[in-house]
Amino acid sequence: MNGIIAQLARALPCHGRGCGFESRWFRQVMPSKKIVFIGDPALKAKNSAVKNFGSKKLKNLIRDLKDTMKKEGLVGLAAPQIAENYKVFVTQPRKTKARDFGRADRCRVYINPNIVSYSKTVSLIYEGCGCVPDLFGPVIRPREIKIDAFDENGNRFSLFCDGLLARVIQHEYDHLYGIEFVEKISNYKKIVHRDYYIKNIRNSKAQNEASLITKIKTSKY
Ligand SMILES: [Zn+2]
Repeated sequence: MNGIIAQLARALPCHGRGCGFESRWFRQVMPSKKIVFIGDPALKAKNSAVKNFGSKKLKNLIRDLKDTMKKEGLVGLAAPQIAENYKVFVTQPRKTKARDFGRADRCRVYINPNIVSYSKTVSLIYEGCGCVPDLFGPVIRPREIKIDAFDENGNRFSLFCDGLLARVIQHEYDHLYGIEFVEKISNYKKIVHRDYYIKNIRNSKAQNEASLITKIKTSKY
């Protein structure tokens, strides 16, 4: 029965398409894994490259990452955050409780990723993380990146992007190397609580401009 409900939840027309906040019902029925908190050894453990692209284990891991990201209202999630130490993460900038503006993107899967170039132009965006509940802080990172990775079908691709997508990719990529965003906060005096972030920063001009996605270019290998 739970399996059927989960399938229904995944099949909802608005599921992950960025058309609105996920409903409470959706969050209740969607199966998910527990996200570990900062300090958990899983966040600092070495992450292995995926070798068997056809395995059930990988399929389940990707499903768990997608479901948990959506259920927790996150725009990205890396495998070590659910205590699975593999080089896999997912992204999906869209409307969430912490974000209600800007271009959405489809759900993307990155396996054995490698960021191959960074722009010299940087941007400052307040970041948060499912492993660090309620805390947001300013982080400066390159505005554009190019990443090579394998998708969930084992096909190699290149993605060039900017704005929030480039930001989320860099944040999740750091998780694969044991780095938490709090280690990169540019000014610790500007750390804020979620409520303050939602009220004062989420919709600020600076946050929206830096998060704006203007380029998403993918190519196959
Ligand atoms: Zn994170």
